[in-house]
Amino acid sequence: MQRRKHVPQRTCIVCRQKKDKRRLIRIVRDRDTGVFVDLSGKHNGRGAYLCPELNCWDKALNKNVLDHALRTEVSEAEKEKIIESISQLVP
Ligand SMILES: [Zn+2]
Repeated sequence: MQRRKHVPQRTCIVCRQKKDKRRLIRIVRDRDTGVFVDLSGKHNGRGAYLCPELNCWDKALNKNVLDHALRTEVSEAEKEKIIESISQLVP
């Protein structure tokens, strides 16, 4: 019998709901490449987690929740790229 792996829990930075790490979308700030959606979930840098919910992304991007979580100012260009990346993941 296969042992069930322990799945770490993470909290969405907007709605504060705790979920399995795999069910959340990670966003990361890299010193060289800036802020982007980390689909591998393994990229180095300061990361934050969000639900795959449009509401959460909307607030994260428009109410500066993301800036706060990543301790940076997310540029408009970065926001556009983020929206593009999540458009396939978020219904
Ligand atoms: Zn959320």
